[in-house]
Amino acid sequence: LNQTWNSFKDPQRVKVLADLIKREVESLGNPVNIMEFCGGHTHVILKNGLDELLKGYINFLHGPGCPVCVTALERVDLAIELAKLPDVILCTYGDLMRVPGSNKISLLTLRAEGYEVRPLPSCLEAIKIAQEFPNKKVVFFAIGFETTAPHTAVLIKQAHQLGIANLWVVSNHILAIEVLDYLLKSEEKPFIEAFIGPGHVSTITGTKVYEPIVQRYGTPIVVSGFEPLDLLQAVYLIVKQKKEGRCEVEIQYTRTVDKQGNLKAQELLKEVFVIRDSFPWRGLGEIPNSAYAIAPKYESLDGEKFFNLSLPSSKEHPQCLCGRVIKGLNKPTDCKLFGKACTPQNPIGPCMVSSEGACLAYFKYRKQL
Ligand code: SF4
Repeated sequence: LNQTWNSFKDPQRVKVLADLIKREVESLGNPVNIMEFCGGHTHVILKNGLDELLKGYINFLHGPGCPVCVTALERVDLAIELAKLPDVILCTYGDLMRVPGSNKISLLTLRAEGYEVRPLPSCLEAIKIAQEFPNKKVVFFAIGFETTAPHTAVLIKQAHQLGIANLWVVSNHILAIEVLDYLLKSEEKPFIEAFIGPGHVSTITGTKVYEPIVQRYGTPIVVSGFEPLDLLQAVYLIVKQKKEGRCEVEIQYTRTVDKQGNLKAQELLKEVFVIRDSFPWRGLGEIPNSAYAIAPKYESLDGEKFFNLSLPSSKEHPQCLCGRVIKGLNKPTDCKLFGKACTPQNPIGPCMVSSEGACLAYFKYRKQL
C-alpha cells in the first residue's frame, strides 16, 4: 500500500508532468491563474513546493474551501454564547475549538475555564454523551461543506429515531457550489482562469452540479485528488483545456469522484435539511441559498430554534486579512500580523488555526523562506 501511495509522489513522474505543463503554458504565452478551492489542496501545494516548481507558469490562488476559515465570526461567537449557557455541553469538531471569537475568547479558552466543551472525532458521539448525561443539554455545533453534512444528517435521524430529548444540532453547513458562483460574479475577486475543484465535496455532490457555473462564467473546473501528482495532473488538464479552447468540468480524481456523486447521501441531505435563504460567510458576507438549516420534520432537534438565540454583533480584528485571503485577493504573507502577532500558538484569525487554513500552510511550509 505504501508503494502505491508513494507512486503519487514519484519524483520522475512529477518532473515529466511539470515539464508538460510548462511546455503547454509556454505555447499559451502567459502564466495561468488557477484557484484551488479546497484548503486541503493549498496545503498539498505548499507542502510539496508545487507553486515553486511551476513559478512563472502557474499562479496558484488560494480559495474559500476551508470550512473553519469561512465560518462567520458571528457564528463562532454564537458557539461561545451557547457554551456559556447553564447545563449545556457544547460539542463540535476539533478545528473550531481554537478559533478566536470577537473578544479573543475561543471554545478552548472556555474549556480551560471549566465550561463543558468537547471536541468530537465523530458527531455520532453526541448521542452517547446525551445518553450519558440526561440532565444536560447537549448541543452539536455542526460545521463543514457538503462533505460533513451527511454525517450530521445521520446524527439528526438517529437522535430522532431514538427519541433523544436532550440533544440539539446547530447547523452551520455551507454549500461549495453557491460560494463558487458568488465568487465568480463578485466585483471584488482576483483574476481566476480556472478552478481546481474540491475532491471531497465532489464525492458527495458529483461534478454535474458544476456544469452551469462553467458554462455561465467560462471558467473550467477540474476536480482533483490530494496527492502531488493528482494536483499536477489537474493543472495539466486545465492548461490543455486552455490550449484547445475548451471550457469543461473534468474529473482528475476518478478513483473517488464521478458525475452523479453519492446519491444516498444526497437523498439524506434533502430529507434532513432545507436551504436557507441567506447565510453569513467570513470575508464574503451574506450569500443567498448557501447553507443548510434543519428541515421542519426534525425541528425538535434544531438548536437555533430551541435556544432562540439571535446572532451577536461581532467585530473582526482590524488588521486580520483572513477575509481577503479567503477570496484569493491576498496571500497570508501580505498580512502584517503573519508570523509575528499571529502564529499557530497564538492565532488571530481562523486561517492560522484550521488544518486547512492558508495562513497555517504558509506558516508551516514557507515561514523560513
Ligand atoms: Fe488573519 Fe493571522 Fe492570517 Fe493575518 S496571518 S490573515 S491575522 S489568520
